[in-house]
Amino acid sequence: MRTDTGKPVHLKDYRVPDYLIGKVDLDVKLHLSATRVQARLAFRPNPNGRRNAPLVLDGDGLTATKIVLDGEVLDLQNSASWNGFATSDAFTLNAPPQRPFDLEIETEIDPSANTQLMGLYRSGSVYCTQCEAEGFRRITYFLDRPDVLSVYTVRLEAESSEAPLLLSNGNKVASGKIDGTSRHFAIWHDPYPKPCYLFALVGSNLGSIFSDFTTRSGRKVLLGIHVEHGKEPQAAYAMDALKRAMAWDERVYGREYDLDVFNIVAVSDFNMGAMENKGLNIFNDKYVLASPETATDTDYAHVEAVIAHEYFHNWTGNRITCRDWFQLCLKEGLTVFRDHAFSADMRSAPVRRIADVRALRAQQFAEDAGPLAHNVRPETYREINNFYTSTIYEKGAEIIRMLKVLIGDDSFRKGMDLYFDRYDGKAATIEDFISCFAEISRRDLTQFSLWYNQAGTPILKVTASYDEVAKTFTLDFSQSCKPTPNQEKKEPFVIPIALGLVVPGVGDIALRAGGNDGASQAEISSGVIEFTSTQRRITFCDVARRPIPSLLRGFSAPVRLDYAAGEADLMTLIKHDSDGFNRWQAAQTYATRMLQRSVACIRAGDLPRYDADFTAALLSIIEQTTDPAFTAQAITLPSEADIAREIGEDVDPDAIHLAREALRQDFGREIKEALLSAYTRLSEIGPYSPDAVSAGRRALRNAALDLLAAGDRLEGVCLATRQFEDAETMTDKFAALCVLAQIPGTEREKALDSFYGAYQGEALVIDKWFALQATIPERGTLNRVKALMKHKAFSYSNPNRLRALAGSFAAANPTQFNADDGSGYDFIAGIVLDLDPKNPQLAARLLSAFKSWRMLEPRRKALAESALRHVAGAGALSADVKDIAERSLP
Ligand SMILES: [Zn+2]
Repeated sequence: MRTDTGKPVHLKDYRVPDYLIGKVDLDVKLHLSATRVQARLAFRPNPNGRRNAPLVLDGDGLTATKIVLDGEVLDLQNSASWNGFATSDAFTLNAPPQRPFDLEIETEIDPSANTQLMGLYRSGSVYCTQCEAEGFRRITYFLDRPDVLSVYTVRLEAESSEAPLLLSNGNKVASGKIDGTSRHFAIWHDPYPKPCYLFALVGSNLGSIFSDFTTRSGRKVLLGIHVEHGKEPQAAYAMDALKRAMAWDERVYGREYDLDVFNIVAVSDFNMGAMENKGLNIFNDKYVLASPETATDTDYAHVEAVIAHEYFHNWTGNRITCRDWFQLCLKEGLTVFRDHAFSADMRSAPVRRIADVRALRAQQFAEDAGPLAHNVRPETYREINNFYTSTIYEKGAEIIRMLKVLIGDDSFRKGMDLYFDRYDGKAATIEDFISCFAEISRRDLTQFSLWYNQAGTPILKVTASYDEVAKTFTLDFSQSCKPTPNQEKKEPFVIPIALGLVVPGVGDIALRAGGNDGASQAEISSGVIEFTSTQRRITFCDVARRPIPSLLRGFSAPVRLDYAAGEADLMTLIKHDSDGFNRWQAAQTYATRMLQRSVACIRAGDLPRYDADFTAALLSIIEQTTDPAFTAQAITLPSEADIAREIGEDVDPDAIHLAREALRQDFGREIKEALLSAYTRLSEIGPYSPDAVSAGRRALRNAALDLLAAGDRLEGVCLATRQFEDAETMTDKFAALCVLAQIPGTEREKALDSFYGAYQGEALVIDKWFALQATIPERGTLNRVKALMKHKAFSYSNPNRLRALAGSFAAANPTQFNADDGSGYDFIAGIVLDLDPKNPQLAARLLSAFKSWRMLEPRRKALAESALRHVAGAGALSADVKDIAERSLP
């Protein structure tokens, strides 16, 4: 474990490397506890760097057994003889040659003891690597920074029986048995220069499925997916998604795959979702394996999205990489944007958009509103692992989405082409990226770039007025953004506001410019207002009747909209807005307002009351449904976290839970007949298909079941039990179990036991079983979670399992994590401290569940702060955990 060095890294201190490494030859002899790595590195001074600078290679827990400089063996016991140092964390040559030179480094590493899951480690019986961000330095000494790009040739050697499959980046150029031994080897060569964080190797005994893809220019690419023996059929959907992603990137961006092979390896112990190593993606098996019996529709959608995401990195991340880690969003924001667009094309676009925005608000808005808020391009970090955040990923994607709206589809595509042409094979910055679009669109994007440099979620305030005599309709916009850590004041953002004016019975009316407000007819009729100052007024003329503004259509900017729409207006938008996203949004806004009022009632000791109009609107959505996936989203109430975020301060999670439950019960009772009829009508017909339409039918049916059970427990248990017993798909089975899990009693315990018994051999399904129990909103849940930590299927060392149990409790059980005696906080703080020496990255992630503690009511706030202080004050903390703890505290 690297403990905290206390040394922050600043963007302003960036300097080009003084030395470059053109070629890397690795020879890796795999062994369970003593893997030998020989690295031959071809250095040359960087003509743009400093002359005569010392060469400092990064290391992390390394021991060199031999180092040879240009053929001369260095005496490692006597570093004075070669004017340098070799410690576990660095190898330094004070006066390296000022001409090309070779360095050969031999290290010995212990993959079995690597519990951090960074560098070379064992996952089950698989040798695998994870080098992003700074894992390569745990394999050999290196210039471990993304702007040092090298061509790699890798020779792997292992016992034939232990690791018959030997993979690395690029194309395989040789393989064979090693005479007189039980070992074999493979040599891989990657012709594309890459930073070391994209290096990967795998040595394993896995089952494989193969297919191929012929690129647009007619090259045949061999595709392989490698999974645990016996799980091969569960990789078929990932293979299908991969081929669709490859074809999509050719069609939409003109980007072809560039090697002869593309391999995906699924492992069960993985800190992240997946990793885009060149030609050899390594995946958390959660995002590869799917079968109707073991994966829900949501799991299928995730597999499709993550497979596409990692594949798309081949161009946005690998061919063009980041100059430094401050530019992480250059590859991540852009690639999330691309995978969102892919999923929208594969599925229903408005439904995908709703899901993406729900996730953005749940994760990123919460982060932006708390102590961990940071720029999409940070300016300083102490531990880069803590910046793989929804701000970098999801908000980074939203920025690119806005850019596309502002400059138009055509200029956006041309700008992307220019970016690919100009920066291929290079390490780029956000400025490089933005400059391509500025050049193509001939626009000054300086102010737009503030989205990268200012943290916080802007608040867009809108007021409206209608002049019945002049027949004009006026919208007044203003924007503001609350202070975030180290950023008191913000400059105005460029906010693209997509909008329409809706007249009941007529629909969208034509937009005509009319005021002396500087808005051209072209801007007005594009339906997108560009808001760049603190205030702007837009007047529309020839408006015969008072219209209802439909603002921020498709969620055209990642902002909080503050507009006091009347309830009747919201109702009209729910029924008539031509923008699907805003129809959903109107229903969410309406429900959120009712829920906020109920929370206030409950805290004042009164009973909450709900609105019959809203119930009627929901009823009409269900009865007139044409897109079940959309309807399922529309009848799903805002989450407890959504409501908490809207309330913003003095938050009482128990009151929020009670208010939301009361509303669910009310709906379930009031629209019971419609729910029952939808539930019956949407029963599965024909064989299972994971496609979006069938998944939408299942989503609505299960949303109906959930509300039915809220309205009538007895009937709910009855229906859910029947569904649980009869279900042929994991989607339906698990949805029924989720309903049963909310209702205390023997039925619940029976169902949980039977589920465990049926799926104990399926690790990913058992993760669901752990996660579900951790999110039950009752007092007894913490004890249940503690007991489950002693369950034979629980393992501290498997990140998926730990995330399922402890992670779900912290992130998805607001009433119990925030229990008013502080027990939830203490429990999670204890796990963070236990886990930190073994897997600091995972421990830091878990600790970031405290990110919203400052908006809680005083009692809980004090308890959360004390738990955080307990963590921050513990002895030898990792840099990861110390960083999160200290940033979270005032
Ligand atoms: Zn990525």
